[in-house]
Amino acid sequence: MYRSCFPAVLLGAIFGCGQPLAAGGETGGGDSAASLRPSASGPWMVLEGGTVLTPTGAVAADLEVRGGTIVAIRERADRPDRAVDSVTRAEPVRVNIRGKWVAPAFIDSHVHLAYLPEGDALADHGIAAAVDMAAPESFLAASHAPLDVIASGPMVTAVGGYPTQGWGRDGYGYPCFDAAAAVAAVDRLIGEGAGLIKLPVTGDPGDAQLDGEALAAAVSEAHRLGVPVASHALSDDEAARAAAAGVDVLAHTPVATLGASTIQAWSRKTVVTTLVAFGASATTRGNLAALRAAGARVLYGTDFGNAQEAGINEAEIAAMRDAGMDGQAILDAGTVTPAQFWGFARLGTLEAGNAASFLVLDADPRVDPLLLAHPDAVYLRGARR
Ligand SMILES: [Zn+2]
Repeated sequence: MYRSCFPAVLLGAIFGCGQPLAAGGETGGGDSAASLRPSASGPWMVLEGGTVLTPTGAVAADLEVRGGTIVAIRERADRPDRAVDSVTRAEPVRVNIRGKWVAPAFIDSHVHLAYLPEGDALADHGIAAAVDMAAPESFLAASHAPLDVIASGPMVTAVGGYPTQGWGRDGYGYPCFDAAAAVAAVDRLIGEGAGLIKLPVTGDPGDAQLDGEALAAAVSEAHRLGVPVASHALSDDEAARAAAAGVDVLAHTPVATLGASTIQAWSRKTVVTTLVAFGASATTRGNLAALRAAGARVLYGTDFGNAQEAGINEAEIAAMRDAGMDGQAILDAGTVTPAQFWGFARLGTLEAGNAASFLVLDADPRVDPLLLAHPDAVYLRGARR
């Protein structure tokens, strides 16, 4: 092991092994991964000595990254003596991560980046992508780098409805008089780039409501255009009405006890955790456990914006664990499951061809998922944060 350059960081400085060199782009190499190399040049490095959590399990492997992309995950026995670019004679930077674990960077499936514009802080602490679940319409046209963001824009709501009379009065709701207006709003927002539609279904006194016909019409239009629909629905009645309208995603785990028929109605659908944003009560955790046991898909989400802690939220992870999720289930809820559900291409799993967006951790997060909140290092598209 480490025969070509060990310890990489120390000897690299002495012998010139592992010096940062501009990558040679797609022309170099000659190994089997050459065809996967991206055309853009960028940092070329090999993280050596760690354990990589791949779609097929934990592998003692070196992780080669070039141009922001994973080009190879090589089991130690397969390590070549030296990797040298055949054209430039450049070598990759070698990073010693012996004893560390590598997991995919996280996806937060419920944030408000217009309300709390701290995308860089999220990225610094391990978030690669996020789903923005209410923002003014102008947010749809904005860049959100370094994060990949899918956004709803304003919630499609009733005139005077949630959230237009409270925290969201400055454009976080799109008021609609009736079903036809709601359908037009859905068309407009998707035309502007919305990747999901958010419909509030609330029973708060004083909140105007879209009726069932308008909710169903809005959902049908979003589905016709290939876009999922999430609802803010916190009670049993609200969650049942959202399911009846065809809504796909509970934007929060409901906080009031869900009845058996509501659990059944959501058993083939999706719920975003946001346990801590509403106090992570035993009732809320029980709802998440019941939805999950019934078969619902669970996505990690924090309601960042209403929640304030930037990054992978330790309290949310702890609450998910207390709701009966083991480390693997928590990891999946923040990585592969939301990547597939929302369509974040090249995120969520560590495999050749995917983005080099990952966490370096001190131990196996499947055993201790709280470690996810304290990564030793964060890389997004090959760049250390
Ligand atoms: Zn929210």
